[in-house]
Amino acid sequence: MKFELLPLPYAYNALEPHLDEATIKIHHDKHHQTYLNNFQAVVDKYPELAKMTAEEILTNLEHLKVDDNDWLKLKNMGGGFVNHNIYWSNLGPFKNIDQNLINKITAEFGSLEKFKEQFTTLATSLFGSGWVWLVEEPNGKLNIYQLPNQDSPLTLGHKPILALDLWEHAYYLKYQNKRADYVDAWWNVVTLI
Ligand code: MN
Repeated sequence: MKFELLPLPYAYNALEPHLDEATIKIHHDKHHQTYLNNFQAVVDKYPELAKMTAEEILTNLEHLKVDDNDWLKLKNMGGGFVNHNIYWSNLGPFKNIDQNLINKITAEFGSLEKFKEQFTTLATSLFGSGWVWLVEEPNGKLNIYQLPNQDSPLTLGHKPILALDLWEHAYYLKYQNKRADYVDAWWNVVTLI
């Protein structure tokens, strides 16, 4: 399979002033593209992988028969490719509230505010590079957690719903060391909630 970097469904400057144009452009055109290129290079070495979607590869990661070094690249670069697809699709200049999701969040976390507080605490307390995720587990329950690096919830058997990239490349140009300010800004451009 030839994987594709989808163009952003909004202009590079559409998330201003919360997420700045320069960061979005580099993040999408350079970082995301590089994960894709490196992922594709490994997938192209294995005919059995070439038949799978990127999501299938991450879901079945533990069972793939590939060299150790290639396995690590599939995990890191495949995760980087798919995680960023989710990140971009969660964002936009206009709200597109998912009322079912809000109802579910309210039922499971007590209120939307409590959910956002817990999610934000996980985001600001993450050590090193990684992501915070809202996922649906196979039993239908929602969960929020940190994952390091580019690890994917798909590998845990969870369905990703909301993804917050906490690698410094996601915010350093505008927010430098102020990760909490980036997290606050990010909530403003999340469309679902
Ligand atoms: Mn990123």
